[in-house]
Amino acid sequence: MTLNLEKSAKAFGEAKQFIPGGVNSPVRSFRGVGGIPPFIAKAEGSKIIDIDGNEYIDYVGSWGPMILGHAHPAVTEALQKALYNGTSYGAPTLLETELAKLINELVPSMELVRMVNSGTEATMSVLRLARAFTKRNKIVKFAGCYHGHHDSLLVKAGSGATTLGVPDSPGVPDSIAGNTVTVNFNDADELRRVFEEIGQDIAAVIIEPVPGNMGLVIPKQGYLREVRNITEQYGALLIFDEVMCGFRVALGGAQSVYGIRPDLTCFGKVIGGGLPVGAYGGRRDIMEYISPAGPVYQAGTLSGNPLAMTAGITTLKLISEIPETPKQPDFFQKLTAKTKTLCNGIQAEAEKYNLKLQFHQAGSMFGMFFTDKPVYDYESAKQSDVGAFNTYFHAMLEEGIYLAPSQFEASFMSASHSDEDIEATIIASGKAFAKVVKYNQVK
Ligand SMILES: *Cc1c(COP(=O)(O)O)cnc(C)c1O
Repeated sequence: MTLNLEKSAKAFGEAKQFIPGGVNSPVRSFRGVGGIPPFIAKAEGSKIIDIDGNEYIDYVGSWGPMILGHAHPAVTEALQKALYNGTSYGAPTLLETELAKLINELVPSMELVRMVNSGTEATMSVLRLARAFTKRNKIVKFAGCYHGHHDSLLVKAGSGATTLGVPDSPGVPDSIAGNTVTVNFNDADELRRVFEEIGQDIAAVIIEPVPGNMGLVIPKQGYLREVRNITEQYGALLIFDEVMCGFRVALGGAQSVYGIRPDLTCFGKVIGGGLPVGAYGGRRDIMEYISPAGPVYQAGTLSGNPLAMTAGITTLKLISEIPETPKQPDFFQKLTAKTKTLCNGIQAEAEKYNLKLQFHQAGSMFGMFFTDKPVYDYESAKQSDVGAFNTYFHAMLEEGIYLAPSQFEASFMSASHSDEDIEATIIASGKAFAKVVKYNQVK
């Protein structure tokens, strides 16, 4: 079977005439894997359908938000009702407090919550707050972690070990990049050395506690505890960027799994139920620095808008176990078990073909690296055979399985994926691995 992507190819060509690269976010262009990105016409449950009529079992889920599956009836119905009340007022609503309360109940470290419109906005705002609160300028981040596209975090490690970061994109001023230090994930000793050197200048450490933006990487036993201890020792704030892993690895986010209380946390993706949302929050004494409670300016015309709040509230209620919401006591257990079944099945197929891959799973997030060596940070992730991944990716797409179009992205399970979907994905993987074996022979 070869995919007919005739209409998508034409649409891609036309899009490029009016939109840079034809897409509104780079990874959608299939730049990493090559080929034509299917243009999506609609989605329902576990499936997405492109404009040529091809149907795929979707494991991207809009990069995480669609934890209930696409067009979930409860979310759609709630949105329909909200729509007729008007879509934005630029004035306070009950919905905003309701979502903030829900987040606070599910993630107790979120004492105060500020809603924004994207994950990028959340991490951008939280850094300003951290700098204002600590009266320090430097930020520490981790290679391979992604926190959105604003200047302070589009930075990679410079050549001097612990010193100046360098821009990771043209247009990011050196003066800003120079305030961001990049270290390796899962290496507490390196972080400690940076703090020994410049700890007094570090406002905050921002980390994806379970990174999903270099492929899925799992923190080593005790690592996040060490990060917490080091930041505490030097009076720097610890920021968990749970935009992706929040409400994905567990209901209470990575902080509940690893028992760490960060000072501040960013959310996005799932909490918007598929609408544009981000949020940041945490310690009350810090969050009270935010305007109008405090002096740190941050605002948004559409922040907390009723549609996004409605989708977020409905989604969180459906996945949560808190009283007085429609009860889903086993939601995360079931979702995690399903993800495990899929990963085990794919792994068994890989073993049939003698392929040694690295499988990672955390709750409803999963991924695999095409390398026989352990992956624990960005450097080790980069050992992966991208050509082998691309072969697998395209073979899966032809079989009607839509995975993230990059070796360095995670995949996501939703509640609406059926046993049949999982079975079909495992069978497709077998066929795809056969092609990877051929690729390995000729490469
Ligand atoms: C997706 C993501 C962001 C950025 O969120 P946007 O809504 O795309 O701006 C930030 N941090 C992490 C960990 C993410 O996965």
